[in-house]
Amino acid sequence: MFAQRKTSPEIQIFDAFVPRGLISSDKDPLNLQITPEGLVPLRIQLGNGVIKNIEAIKDHEDMPSILMLPRFVEPHAHIDKAFTWGTSPNLLGTYEGAMNANLEEYKQRTTQEVRLRAEKSLNLALRNGIRAIRTHIDSFDMIGAQSWDVFGEIKKEWKALIEMQCVALVPIEYWTTQNGKNLASKVAEKHGLLGGVISPPYQKKILRNQLRELFSLANDFGCGIDLHIDETSLSPGAGLRELLYMLDQINLDVPLTCSHLSSMALIEPEPLKILADRLAYHDVSVVALPLTNFWLLSRDENCSPLRRPLAPIKQLQMAGVTVAIGGDNVQDPWFPAGNFDPLALMSTSMSITHSAPWNRLGLSLFTTGPARLMDLKWDGTFKIGCAADLILIDAENWSAAMSTPPSRKVMVNGQWITHDTFTSLKN
Ligand SMILES: [Zn+2]
Repeated sequence: MFAQRKTSPEIQIFDAFVPRGLISSDKDPLNLQITPEGLVPLRIQLGNGVIKNIEAIKDHEDMPSILMLPRFVEPHAHIDKAFTWGTSPNLLGTYEGAMNANLEEYKQRTTQEVRLRAEKSLNLALRNGIRAIRTHIDSFDMIGAQSWDVFGEIKKEWKALIEMQCVALVPIEYWTTQNGKNLASKVAEKHGLLGGVISPPYQKKILRNQLRELFSLANDFGCGIDLHIDETSLSPGAGLRELLYMLDQINLDVPLTCSHLSSMALIEPEPLKILADRLAYHDVSVVALPLTNFWLLSRDENCSPLRRPLAPIKQLQMAGVTVAIGGDNVQDPWFPAGNFDPLALMSTSMSITHSAPWNRLGLSLFTTGPARLMDLKWDGTFKIGCAADLILIDAENWSAAMSTPPSRKVMVNGQWITHDTFTSLKN
């Protein structure tokens, strides 16, 4: 079988297909053979935790039977509440139902539960091939502060395996209070980001003031911002317009990400293009979240909706905005399924977004896009000398890789992830 034969710890040379768009070798790439799906057959040599050599496989040689990808980046998760569906289900599947179940569960949340959920999430993410994860953390009041302490520990413990970025998720008005300012100071200490929710009903004047407070706190503390914004089918783009208005007024010195931007897709093409251009001008990145959006939004008991709110990925990419796709919720009141598997997410998103991994921009949504958005050191493209931080998939083309669930082997800096390496790397 593939796993034993090709990925035992001794193997330092193997043949694999690699997406053309993820090779940044200095050698002339045009001499490479390339499949119709944009895959290139390469001989990869590893050593000392890095890629030592990359060679083209000649057309008279046997073709590889595996696919090599960089470990993935998850730009939007909620691992503090993952796996709570069992005790806090949201059977109606509405946004309001999710919020109510979430708030009820939050009142009873213990630090021990938060740790268990995070550990389970990170274990799954590691084995499925994720190298970095940005998670939002419910952060208001005492329970939120305790969660940040737990995540401070977890981030350190997992540093060698998964890079974590934490975002303080609170109602946006929280940042105008003294408790909010104290939280911002704690978040800054732990190198986190400030988050928040902008959703209907939108009260223009109040929202502008809240955004002003948030931007100045972020500037003062040097924290990036990642907002849940316009996760709705109502008043399309209303939150985004206010955000852009404030960006025109205030110089924001830190990176800003808009997560969701779902209702933007319901705006007519011309005004949509203007908004996309303004997002690009202000260097705002976007995380699209197809699974939760398709599950929660535009619900009607008597009608299967055909117009679905979701960040308009292609229009944003055409305007020059960095876009990534995230998994969002996993088995919690907001979404009953999911398992931190980037290949499953890619497979499901393909039919929702019409973004295919054999197109450079389609693949970037899961690789270079989230790496840029999270400002990671490595952009996820392979070249000689880069870290051997990769996954091998038992598939010889994208179609096989998108079929569920392909077996895979994960390598972190030259070491295959097995139970033993996992324990030694983690500690
Ligand atoms: Zn979210």
